[in-house]
Amino acid sequence: MSLSLHRLRPPRRSNEALDEPLTSEERTGMIAAATRKFEELLDILQVDHRCDHNTRDTPGRVARMLVDEAMAGRFSAPPVITAFENAQNFEHLIITGPIAVRSTCAHHLMPIYGHACIGILPAADGRIIGLSKYDRIVDHFAARLQIQEELVQQIGRHIMDTTAPRGLAVRISAVHMCKTHRGVHASHRSRMVTNAYFGALAAEPGLKDEFLRECATLERAA
Ligand SMILES: [Zn+2]
Repeated sequence: MSLSLHRLRPPRRSNEALDEPLTSEERTGMIAAATRKFEELLDILQVDHRCDHNTRDTPGRVARMLVDEAMAGRFSAPPVITAFENAQNFEHLIITGPIAVRSTCAHHLMPIYGHACIGILPAADGRIIGLSKYDRIVDHFAARLQIQEELVQQIGRHIMDTTAPRGLAVRISAVHMCKTHRGVHASHRSRMVTNAYFGALAAEPGLKDEFLRECATLERAA
């Protein structure tokens, strides 16, 4: 199964989705193949996963966690976006957040956690999407091996492509466990902040200021 998977789908960048979501048969095959590789890895690390009551099911557990959770966004379709007509021609900034961010660092395979704020400047004659969809979009792009700089861009480009607002801003503030649990052992208060701006939000400093001011209020309340 792993061979046919490999032939069907050439390897691609860690945070790129496959062209087509995995079928349930392919998903099962991927989990089985990954389980065997994790068994092999634990053998190399001299961990007894056959008899030890703690690690007996660990290879399968880790394989399922990666395929079904941590990397699920690569193997599934993006969330369907429900859009409503902008009936009252609302054309001011809408800001939503904090949205929980749970991702995995592509460099070290360690968790990244924090929150996102998204600012949308709707087009007066365009459409508005349901608020909960922003949370789902963040989840979808976070569920893969990521770096934070690309995560904000991917979320932003997807919202721009699917809903064409007049402007958009995506901000993520997150803790990287590859910095807190290894290497420099940084404090858990050490965060990384990345912002991405599109359309009018990239062009108009006043809008950018308004977005950042509202983010600060939302983050204080979190
Ligand atoms: Zn890292």
